[in-house]
Amino acid sequence: MTAPRVLIVGAGPAGVRAAEAVVRGGLRPVVVDEGDACGGQIYRQPPAAKARPAETLYGADAAAARALHADFAALLPAIDYYPRTLVWNLVTGAGQSGPGQTGFVHVHDRAAGAVGRLDFTHVVLATGATDRVLPVPGWTLPGVFTLGGAQVALKGQGCLIGRRVAFLGTGPLLYLVALQYAKAGADVVVVADTSGTWRQARAFPGLRAAPGYALRGMSFVAQLMLKGVPILRGVVPARIEGTDGVERVTLRHRGGEKSFACDAVGLGFGLRSETQLADLAGVPRRYDAAQANWVPRAGCDGRTPRSGVYVAGDGAGILGAQAAELRGARAGLAVLADAGGRADPAEAGRLEAEIGRWVRFRRAIDAMYPVPVQMLRGLAAETVVCRCEHITLGDLRRVAANTGAEDANRLKSFSRAGMGRCQGRFCADNVQELAAFLHGAAPAAMGTQRAQMPIKPIPIGDLLRQAPRTEPVLDEPVLDEPVLAGEAE
Ligand SMILES: Cc1cc2nc3c(=O)[nH]c(=O)nc-3n(C[C@H](O)[C@H](O)[C@H](O)COP(=O)(O)OP(=O)(O)OC[C@H]3O[C@@H](n4cnc5c(N)ncnc54)[C@H](O)[C@@H]3O)c2cc1C
Repeated sequence: MTAPRVLIVGAGPAGVRAAEAVVRGGLRPVVVDEGDACGGQIYRQPPAAKARPAETLYGADAAAARALHADFAALLPAIDYYPRTLVWNLVTGAGQSGPGQTGFVHVHDRAAGAVGRLDFTHVVLATGATDRVLPVPGWTLPGVFTLGGAQVALKGQGCLIGRRVAFLGTGPLLYLVALQYAKAGADVVVVADTSGTWRQARAFPGLRAAPGYALRGMSFVAQLMLKGVPILRGVVPARIEGTDGVERVTLRHRGGEKSFACDAVGLGFGLRSETQLADLAGVPRRYDAAQANWVPRAGCDGRTPRSGVYVAGDGAGILGAQAAELRGARAGLAVLADAGGRADPAEAGRLEAEIGRWVRFRRAIDAMYPVPVQMLRGLAAETVVCRCEHITLGDLRRVAANTGAEDANRLKSFSRAGMGRCQGRFCADNVQELAAFLHGAAPAAMGTQRAQMPIKPIPIGDLLRQAPRTEPVLDEPVLDEPVLAGEAE
């Protein structure tokens, strides 16, 4: 029998706890993360030159951040860790890799400026999430950042996105980032939430599944109010305006329009799972209507319908950081059970019960802060939907009408929306929703845009250099052979 080779993509809360479980069961996993250090999105560590106390960086999460960083440091002798390394392709299937292997990934080592290949028998995809962004007229102006981008600037670089900042969108992160900015000295001119007060009040009792977190959320709002920050609920974003950069944001609220002068906007409507690698692995996806997002099909244990492929953490559907640790640990146990390691069934049951509690909590959060996809229907034709390729809503309408593009993939092929640098990570959900809207169909009937490698851009010159410690990649057909004129079938 081939010795198991366990690969974990991501060293955030889910990836770290998956690695820990695998090591405890007696196996030595490989952990790959494109970040400089472990921690993922929430427990991101700044560069050494910008180091600050955990309390300043992570607030109420300082203890959890410290514990995760310390536990990962303790794991280092028992794992093979590749930081600053992007997994940009994943291939599974018989005959695709060495004997007994399930598949392999292509990696790009940023420090070495080189690529390589890592084989695996079992892969845990703990790739996390990114902001869910909806287009608003003017959202491509300099000075508009996603909430996550605004937070990275603060946590990673210790700088603000502007002096007078408007926060626009919905979800707990909206209030948290606004508060972090207010505490860091920014003038927060407004927190504008697309979700209404009554909707939030109705769903509130569901938060009792995690009362501590409900109280924390309430304290964010209370602290913002004490600082005199205006909070508007039930808004419809009208436009962001300015000449060379953001100067003003205008909202529709209670039948009128309100404008706020500002020099930056933090924009975000919740989170979406990073699913590209799961898609390349052939894991089927399902439409999660509550999160208006396509997520990989997987059990609570992280197992997917593809043998040897597991998903964990927010990459498997948004449940938050505490659940990500539990889901990582549970997926690690599933790997152990499948790879012949030592897994404790009682521990698996305990983890699943805890994950269930976070599922209930998240249902209430999703009900309180729904992604306002209906906004897409009211957009002006000139609003940019795919910013990498500069495709507007009007372009999509024309393409849908002229070509009969009948699903999300065809709309992508004919319009190029989703083919740019971000590979659809920011626009695909919206293009899919718009495809459904333009065809008068349900989003689930439109399908999803298929992921393509490289899932994030890498320098083409680096494809010619072999990264240290990885298997040779250059004898592999990394890119398709160029088709010469006249050779095409
Ligand atoms: C922008 C943003 C801000 C957030 N802020 C907060 C907050 O303030 N408070 C809070 O409670 N929750 C916050 N969350 C949610 C929280 O970050 C997540 O719930 C939690 O981090 C999930 O853990 P995870 O391990 O699943 O994913 P992550 O923590 O996101 O970790 C995923 C890891 O995978 C790596 N990775 C992904 N793809 C690849 C690849 N192809 N190759 C190599 N490495 C890869 C990433 O570098 C990352 O380190 C935020 C989420 C986002 C997206």
